Amino acid sequence: MSEKMSKRIRRLEARVTALEGRSGHAWNSSMESAVREIAEQEARRMPRRQVYQAELAASQWKHLTYAILVGCIIVLIIANTAVHAKAGDTYPVGPPVVVTAKETAVEPTEEPEEAENELIEAALLARSHVIEDCTITFYCNEKYPHICGVGNGIAADGTPALAWATCAVDPDVIPLGSTVLVDLGDGEGLRTLVANDTGVKGNHLDICVGSHYEAEQLGRQAAAVYWCEE
Ligand SMILES: [Zn+2]
Repeated sequence: MSEKMSKRIRRLEARVTALEGRSGHAWNSSMESAVREIAEQEARRMPRRQVYQAELAASQWKHLTYAILVGCIIVLIIANTAVHAKAGDTYPVGPPVVVTAKETAVEPTEEPEEAENELIEAALLARSHVIEDCTITFYCNEKYPHICGVGNGIAADGTPALAWATCAVDPDVIPLGSTVLVDLGDGEGLRTLVANDTGVKGNHLDICVGSHYEAEQLGRQAAAVYWCEE
């Protein structure tokens, strides 16, 4: 090795040493501080990330809980509707329910009416005069002149002669306008008539019917007649 070469090597070594000595500490310290800073940043970031993840998980749980609740409510509504629909379908079909409703609807309308009629009849009978063994005959309201009348269908007091409602009496025995009750024994019970017409004498009741044939068929009868001026 030449002298020149040795000098050059020593110079290079000196430069390297100088470089190492100059930058070593500074470089190391700056590296250390950089590493520390990164570690601190990471440490700071970690809890934040954990918090974020925890928040994310919580919000996901919240959403899941809401979804389950809404699902439960929908299922309940559907179940409830289905039960009601089923009840609504079966209710009107049930024959016992319909029959019971019909019976309860019909009975109260008929029974009080019958009871009321019986009470009215009883009250009328209590205040009535009675003609035992009264002669009963029948005439018609057909509109042509014949034995039953002139054919205008009008009673003595000017009112229309109505079948099974108007009767003719002797006004000296039963006052005109009186209510007349008679049971002809034909199963129809006590008939209620009004003495609107005249043309007979004494204990005689002439009952208006709808046709001359019917009047002939009913003929001449005898029955107890009750009357009162009401
Ligand atoms: Zn006639």
